[in-house]
Amino acid sequence: MRRTQPLVRAPRDMTCPMLEIAEGCTYNRCKFCGIYRNYPFKLYPMDQVIDNIDEIARKATLLTRRIYLAGGNPYGLPTKHLVEVFDAVEERIPQVNSYGGFCRILDVKGKSDSELRLLAERGVNDLDIGAESGLDSVLEFVEKGHTAQDVIEQGLRLHDAGMDFTYFYLAGLAGAGRGIENAIASAEAFSKASPTTILVVCLAPVKTWPLAKDIESGRWVAPTEVEMAQEIRAFVEHLDCKTTVNCSHDSDVIRFEGGLPADKEKMLALLDDRIPKIDERYARMMREMIHGGSLGKAATA
Ligand code: SF4
Repeated sequence: MRRTQPLVRAPRDMTCPMLEIAEGCTYNRCKFCGIYRNYPFKLYPMDQVIDNIDEIARKATLLTRRIYLAGGNPYGLPTKHLVEVFDAVEERIPQVNSYGGFCRILDVKGKSDSELRLLAERGVNDLDIGAESGLDSVLEFVEKGHTAQDVIEQGLRLHDAGMDFTYFYLAGLAGAGRGIENAIASAEAFSKASPTTILVVCLAPVKTWPLAKDIESGRWVAPTEVEMAQEIRAFVEHLDCKTTVNCSHDSDVIRFEGGLPADKEKMLALLDDRIPKIDERYARMMREMIHGGSLGKAATA
């Protein structure tokens, strides 16, 4: 299999095979993302996709039930094309009955209700969706391309189609001093969408992101580690829906997972206990070590 783009996937799907049907991201403009910046979107010809499927088939076992479509937003491709890919997969690996991958909120918006239902029937489930925030000024500043209303409406459409889905919440995205405002607005929007899972990730800016220019000019100042943890606390506190909150990404300084509403008090108690113990310098050093990133001109703790 020819591999060029970085193969990124959510922790839940670390063990399932990744199938490349395209390269990059059709949007590629979010200020906080550089994953596919050097990979202009490219659709792979079907014969190359078949080669890729054949390679997965050679290693498949009876337990190979789920395939993760690689790339920034493979579900932005036309539904007809996705169905052709699924047919080709199941012809060669008949036990496959589930498909995951990253998806933009606007990819969902671009599909009709009947297309979403068809994809759900074909096994598309547990999509990983970078909602990131539910505060319009933040979404606009980072050029995310969707609005808080889209976060709500497209989540509800996925529910109607019968799909589970994960929304990513990107703590720190609003910059220093705006974490709580971002958390409260996002909790409201996310609650209305009620994603099956919310994956909390902390922003770890790197110099190659477009956001670096805003850091340099002072238009955006990185929050401290403590501020990001307080933001996560406010986000969890204000969530009002049935969901699982997973805060165990390697960017998260305080790690936990719990179901809402049952575990809310436990999660808040854990955060209240751990936040005062955060060692700002150590936490930042760990973040930079893991991500090779730099928080630039972070606000002082
Ligand atoms: S949509 Fe996703 S992959 Fe594409 S630029 Fe934004 S964050 Fe990166």
